[in-house]
Amino acid sequence: MALTTSLDGYEVWFLTGSQHLYGPETLAQVAEQSQQIARLLDSADEVPVTIVWKPVLTDAAAIKRTALEANADDRVIGLVAWMHTFSPAKMWIAGLDALRKPLAHLHTQANVELPWAEIDFDFMNLNQAAHGDREFGYIQTRLGVPRKTIVGHASDPRVRRELGTWQRAAAGLAASRDLKLARFGDNMRFVAVTEGDKTEAELRFGVQVNTWGVNDLADAVAAASASDIDALVAEYEELYEVAPELRKGGDRHESLRDGAAIELGLRSFLEEGGFGAFTTSFEDLGALKQLPGLAVQRLMAEGYGFGAEGDWKTAILVRIANVMGAGLPGGASLMEDYTYDMTPGDELILGAHMLEVSPSLTTAKPTLEIHPLGIGGKDDPVRLVFTADPGPAVVVALSDMRDRFRLTANVVENVPPRAALPKLPVGRAVWKPQPDFTTSAAAWLTAGAAHHTVMSTAVGIEAFRDFAEMAEVELLVIDDSTTLPEFQKQVRWNQAYYRLAQGL
Ligand code: MN
Repeated sequence: MALTTSLDGYEVWFLTGSQHLYGPETLAQVAEQSQQIARLLDSADEVPVTIVWKPVLTDAAAIKRTALEANADDRVIGLVAWMHTFSPAKMWIAGLDALRKPLAHLHTQANVELPWAEIDFDFMNLNQAAHGDREFGYIQTRLGVPRKTIVGHASDPRVRRELGTWQRAAAGLAASRDLKLARFGDNMRFVAVTEGDKTEAELRFGVQVNTWGVNDLADAVAAASASDIDALVAEYEELYEVAPELRKGGDRHESLRDGAAIELGLRSFLEEGGFGAFTTSFEDLGALKQLPGLAVQRLMAEGYGFGAEGDWKTAILVRIANVMGAGLPGGASLMEDYTYDMTPGDELILGAHMLEVSPSLTTAKPTLEIHPLGIGGKDDPVRLVFTADPGPAVVVALSDMRDRFRLTANVVENVPPRAALPKLPVGRAVWKPQPDFTTSAAAWLTAGAAHHTVMSTAVGIEAFRDFAEMAEVELLVIDDSTTLPEFQKQVRWNQAYYRLAQGL
């Protein structure tokens, strides 16, 4: 089964709250106007997931039934709720308590301007979301329902963007709840931050994390047919600037064929097992001839999650970011803060990995090259070489803080390298962190955030904020508003908050 990374099969249900008090005529108007709002949002380019309007809800039984149906329907990734009139909120208690899908509270109304000269009390009764939604906000807060609150008219592009971003986050959560992750080998020996509680991850994110022997993968690689390898090598020659030594007739063509066999074997293993993410370990390559580089890069660009050195937590983030960014320019990749340009006041971070950076970060044609790798003790690996496009990006890390997971994110700007990098044959990115280098790095270290991250150039920090809210996971954000003293306080307070929030 090939992996899908698309928002096409998903739905978001549009719920409208009201009550019987106003009579059938008013309820018919509520239904008509809420369908108009739902259609307006569904047709907006900024709203990628299909909006499905549901009949107006006027009592507790119908609300609870709708929540249970949403829970049971795999297509439904979340609900949007709007109280067009006044919907006494006790009727929402059982439904909200049962709901297991993300919720967006849309605080809007049918009209933009008030018809000042025409307003009578019928209009007031029909268009009272201004206080109907306050009643709904109260019960959500009282019940502790995680949600996104979106305020504004459905014709406003900002409202549509916020809804679209929330939908993308909900799709990321749906994909993670559906995710099976294959680890080939264990974590890199002695490394702390790539460890974590896989059982808690399955509860929190829904992802199943399990390990397979790397020689199971090597068997699949050995099973790759010569004709499939021929076809894949031809595809490489079409898509990339292939180094002459790797081309047909070149001295090292066999290494490219080995790389293609790794891709074929890896893909068949992942497809057969229904996996959407995986990890490798350079310390545990078994019978594989090379550390998987090219194959991993290409699979990440197709939507797979990946983490190196057994880092399954970052692999989850890469998969989620790939789904959240589906259809948008840019991409998502494993990234590692590697080294700095410490020019005072103009510092830059150079990020890369041994090999495994996704070419979805560039619109240029990567080169396909072969070079020695100092670690792993295997044949020289083939890899794609490129620099990430300049532009806005975010890097996000997932740490296990013993009693919970913590996401830490830094809003950054990818920039061109100061000079060409002729001796650095890997995929890489160069960025300026917000708010500045010293605050960013000090805050990152204070948070205990990892050196592995997902870099997303397709979705920004808002998608991760929405994701953290709906997954009920801590998120520390380092951006232009960050100061170190406030950040330190936030870290300290969060320790207490998240312990209290999860109870005993
Ligand atoms: Mn690493």
